[in-house]
Amino acid sequence: MPGNDFDGHGGPRSKGVAADELRRHNLAVVLSRLHLGGPVSRSELASGTGLNRSTIADLIGELLGLGLVEERPGLAASGPGRPSPIVRTRPEGAVVLAVELTVDSIAVATVGLGGHVYNRLRVERPREHLSPEEAVGDIANLARPLLASLPTHHTFVGVGVGVAGVTRRSDGFLHLAPNLGWRDIPLGELLAAELKVEHPVSVANEADLGALAEHWRGVRPGVRNLIYVSGEVGIGTGVIVDGEPMLGSAGYAGEAGHTLINPAGRACRCGAIGCWETEAGEAALLRHAGSLSSATGLSVLDTLSKRAAAGQGATLTAIAEIGRWLGLGIGNLINLFNPDVVVLGGLYHRFYPFLEASVVQGARSQALAASWASATIAPSGLGADAPLVGASELALSDIIADPASIARTAVRKPVSPRRRRGWPHEPRSSH
Ligand SMILES: [Zn+2]
Repeated sequence: MPGNDFDGHGGPRSKGVAADELRRHNLAVVLSRLHLGGPVSRSELASGTGLNRSTIADLIGELLGLGLVEERPGLAASGPGRPSPIVRTRPEGAVVLAVELTVDSIAVATVGLGGHVYNRLRVERPREHLSPEEAVGDIANLARPLLASLPTHHTFVGVGVGVAGVTRRSDGFLHLAPNLGWRDIPLGELLAAELKVEHPVSVANEADLGALAEHWRGVRPGVRNLIYVSGEVGIGTGVIVDGEPMLGSAGYAGEAGHTLINPAGRACRCGAIGCWETEAGEAALLRHAGSLSSATGLSVLDTLSKRAAAGQGATLTAIAEIGRWLGLGIGNLINLFNPDVVVLGGLYHRFYPFLEASVVQGARSQALAASWASATIAPSGLGADAPLVGASELALSDIIADPASIARTAVRKPVSPRRRRGWPHEPRSSH
């Protein structure tokens, strides 16, 4: 909590440590408020954080010195005295590359502090088991022009990657991505080498990132209890409990797609029978839709979208059938987690208008009345970009948590090999 009640117990040394901790905490509170909430006056910042005006002035001074915020004169106030200056983040003060790798597409974006998107690019990729090296090469080829077009004086701080798989965030190791056919890939290392960045590349499960993005910037920003359910080839789920991501002991929590929904159902690619995604995933949709089942990929989903929009009965029935199973599983999650909101992303966002009635009916039939009463089901506020937004926030999170660390970061702009000579600017020295 922000405030001035941080009382360092103990001797002079621990008091110094406590004061450092307090300052770092307060810097993070102010920068986070500006990053997520947008421009605000100094006086509003003081009232919103509970910090007094002189502390705010001091913290803003440090953030200005770090190049992370900028100030403009405030508008004339109605009351007496000078208007309070308006503070806002300086996007180029901390810039990241966000990447989303899915079975069907690669998306990259350059994003600055405050969520400022400099550039964004999404390309479809053939649904084949491309090797990790090929995929990393494709990502780098897409990213290089975006990185080269960033403002000259930006400060690059890292790369965040969302992937449909089981990952270890600390070093970007990908244990398993069944839909890509990958196992035990040092994805973060491969991408860092290809992009020639010295910063670690953070890699996380794309549904976990989608959940964080919706929590921070999506359908209901700041909501404390949120479940993100994304239909891709499988079902990805990310859970926010009391404002914090639920990751589990080793970071693998939230694999709701592989919870049992139909004991008399089909074999799942995980080896079990009747997993949720066997009844509500993309394969189930194509199965129910009939003749499309031999083909896969985005073009098939485009066709289904068009048929649904045209009111074709068989397609609407197929969508309603997976909607019913989707709703039953969501009812289970509502009973488990008592969320404020269940956000539907990916396939479910795309087909939401046609799914909504059956999902709500299925969920209502399964959820306990008390939990159902406080839960809302809503389509993603960020659409297809939710995991990409989450990846950018992941890459910015270290700077937000410890703004002064940017001065200690050896900043080197990644460039394409042919541009490696003649840096537009040298790594920023510590100050
Ligand atoms: Zn399964």
